[in-house]
Amino acid sequence: MNRLDRLLLENKAWVQERLDENPDFLKHLAENRVPDIFWIGCSDSRLHADEITNTEPGEILVHRNVGNQVVSTDFNLLGALEYAVNVLKVAHIIVCGHYRCRSVKAALDRPNPNLPFADKWLRNIKDVYRLHRSEIEALNNIEDRWKLLVEMNIQEQITNLAHTSIVQKSWKANRRPELHGWVYGLHDGIIRELCSLTPYSPLDPIYEYNLEDIAIG
Ligand SMILES: [Zn+2]
Repeated sequence: MNRLDRLLLENKAWVQERLDENPDFLKHLAENRVPDIFWIGCSDSRLHADEITNTEPGEILVHRNVGNQVVSTDFNLLGALEYAVNVLKVAHIIVCGHYRCRSVKAALDRPNPNLPFADKWLRNIKDVYRLHRSEIEALNNIEDRWKLLVEMNIQEQITNLAHTSIVQKSWKANRRPELHGWVYGLHDGIIRELCSLTPYSPLDPIYEYNLEDIAIG
């Protein structure tokens, strides 16, 4: 049996197992549940939001990209963020990165000329490195630098979220969502809280919209 045939067969077995556990499983799946959490995670195949938080389908809206980044020109992320905040009115947004993230490791190295598009995407993480160069380079070994850049990248993405007009408008109009930076340990399976921002957190004025001039939607 080839690899893809096995996936399709395992899918059928998965459905049957779920139905054996709960005959209403498919009925519940089809119900229109409204997630109250928006999750931004890394594309890494070892990181599945519902699995590591033991949540059911429909509880968390998930967006994933390489290095769990919030990039101000990424319409894929911004579209999902807009939907999560303006339509679902989620209470929480979580950026969850992970230790031993290969995207962050790649950002610590020289650009790879054979992967120009991946390199452009990773440049945002290189910018995080440049912002925190002195703290990172104070560490002597590559493992510690890698770990710190993982954490700083998550913190930076939380800040990037707070700099979007989508979040700032919702903070002003609805006093939500709270923003949370989490890091997942591949070595022990544990998620740790790194940082958070609330609608009352002060912002750097150069990133703060003058919302008196904008209709609150
Ligand atoms: Zn990763």
